[in-house]
Amino acid sequence: MTEQELRLALFDASRRLVELGLNRGTAGNASVRCGENILITPSALPVAEMSEQDMVLLDADGNVLKGGKPSSEWRFHRDILQVRTEVGAVLHMHSTYATTIACLRRNVPAVHYHIAIAGGDTIRCTPYSVFGEQNLSDLALEALRDRKACLLGNHGMIALGKDLSEALSVALEVEFLCEIYWRTLQAGGPQILTEQQMYEVKQKFVEYKKRS
Ligand code: 13P
Ligand code: ZN
Repeated sequence: MTEQELRLALFDASRRLVELGLNRGTAGNASVRCGENILITPSALPVAEMSEQDMVLLDADGNVLKGGKPSSEWRFHRDILQVRTEVGAVLHMHSTYATTIACLRRNVPAVHYHIAIAGGDTIRCTPYSVFGEQNLSDLALEALRDRKACLLGNHGMIALGKDLSEALSVALEVEFLCEIYWRTLQAGGPQILTEQQMYEVKQKFVEYKKRS
């Protein structure tokens, strides 16, 4: 994809996050790999006031090549895209249920078999750390080890994908899992799937993903 196409795709994904109720106002941000560089949403600008031309181009070290002020979370976007070479897109949300569990500072257990979509048997939650700092990025990278999503303590969620479309579907699944986890907690607590049950699901998913 060209830089212009990626700008449009990133803008569209940011809009979708608001339309789906996963973000509001200036909460959250998104980035996509653009060759050797990174395209990232601008800081403190509501999506309703954004256009694709506001997306900021960073080099691999996080220096601004084109545009204004990048998202305050550019450090974790840069670090994830640098370390996780299979990842092409990073989404950050303050969605209601993921943030609820993040405010309880709990890992999400295998409450539903779809947790496998986030890459494992749990979704980890980081300790609390102030937004926009390197420490938050370090904690996020650790929580994302072998996973496509994590919760940020008292803050929100990060979802990853090979592209924006996959990252968006991971984000929706994580929000669903957190809602189910929250609801089951209200009703006495969930039955958690065992390691063996999750192993079977992961095997089954391999077949399920084959289109024919
Ligand atoms: P930005 O507007 O700087 O992207 O910050 C929003 C946010 O969610 C910080 O964690
Ligand atoms: Zn945030």
